[in-house]
Amino acid sequence: MAQKTLPFTLEQIEKITQEHPTPFHIYDEKGIRENARRLRSAFAWNPGFKEYFAVKACPNPYLMKLLMHEGFGMDCSSLPELLLAERVGATGENIMFTSNDTPADEYVTAKKLGAVINLDDISHIPFLESCAGLPEMICLRYNPGPLKGGNAIIGHPEQAKYGFTRDQLFEGYRQLKDKGIRRFGLHTMVASNELNPQYFIDTAEILFGLAAEIAQKVGISFEFINMGGGIGIPYRPEQEPVDLAAVSNGVRSAYEQRLLGKGHPGLKIYLECGRMVTGPYGYLVSRVRHIKKTYKNYVGLDSCMANLMRPALYGAYHHISVPAKVDQPCASVYDVTGSLCENNDKFAIDRSLPEMAPGDLVVIHDAGAHGHAMGFQYNGKLRSAELLLREDGSVVQIRRGETPEDYFATLDFGALAAFKA
Ligand SMILES: *Cc1c(COP(=O)(O)O)cnc(C)c1O
Repeated sequence: MAQKTLPFTLEQIEKITQEHPTPFHIYDEKGIRENARRLRSAFAWNPGFKEYFAVKACPNPYLMKLLMHEGFGMDCSSLPELLLAERVGATGENIMFTSNDTPADEYVTAKKLGAVINLDDISHIPFLESCAGLPEMICLRYNPGPLKGGNAIIGHPEQAKYGFTRDQLFEGYRQLKDKGIRRFGLHTMVASNELNPQYFIDTAEILFGLAAEIAQKVGISFEFINMGGGIGIPYRPEQEPVDLAAVSNGVRSAYEQRLLGKGHPGLKIYLECGRMVTGPYGYLVSRVRHIKKTYKNYVGLDSCMANLMRPALYGAYHHISVPAKVDQPCASVYDVTGSLCENNDKFAIDRSLPEMAPGDLVVIHDAGAHGHAMGFQYNGKLRSAELLLREDGSVVQIRRGETPEDYFATLDFGALAAFKA
């Protein structure tokens, strides 16, 4: 069983809370950088390998800047994400634009930035051409649908709204070739939070085989294959992280057999992971407000599902540590709640913890992806600050917490005064 560890001591985090009141998200720079280097070195055999960080996982420009410094590109799926990537200094093909049901202005901006544009549907070929003009390079997103022969772990892509069918792919590349496009990519993304390395190897085999077939039949060659994101993280202490070396080795032999072996020239492998890049290195730090004992025992925190929605949204497990009580037995069972007026505002249900008391500091693990990013203001709950624990132990506030003024920012109280009820 893997141990869930913290990148700070009790004294350190108590000191941080003196300057930055709870709740806040804190990210571990050292963990993020080391993990980024592990991912890149696992695929170092592939010249041109690149990971495009899925910005939606944690859209903070400071973290994006760190990741760019580690050689990552940025994977964006909306206009604000594109603008954020631009503000951080990402340029040209260091930006991947993977969207769906895409509005024209987003294609215009992506094209202007020189981003790699990944099309979700065959109808977007003429749409992109008419609104922004076709770029020099185009990538198409494949949806494997009900794969012939079946692939148990790929699930049911035919229920997913994303991507081209197999026939549409051949047709799409033909159309693009006829329009004079010479640089091509192929993409798929059909998994989320997957921990089985074989899953990614199977996906690579499908993509490489398909790319070789399209290349031969349509008479093009591929510059890159984007295997998407979806590498999972061990939210539960008994789970293991994905063995990146195993994924890389399997992808490499598929690459050699199905691409090089079929006469296709070498190509670049891209990933667009989000969760595994920042997820394990972000922590929601909160304090116990109240202990309540009714039909169940409740620990009421000063954070709520507006700070971390995954448990309420998916019933997701997030490990909870109580740094001051690590040596005490987890002999009490609690629901750990926030203060939002929805009964699913619970970080944990029936969780065994040490005997808890008001004022205890609580750390919720694996909140670095889809944590702060999924925040919202329903019920007048305000999004918390984000802090970065730097490698030298110093702390930088990388986003301030919201105030009621932020909550009111889209309202015009001047016009309200003149409004006759
Ligand atoms: C969400 C998403 C990702 C990142 O997924 P993770 O599970 O965070 O790795 C990558 N690509 C696309 C198109 C996505 O929608």
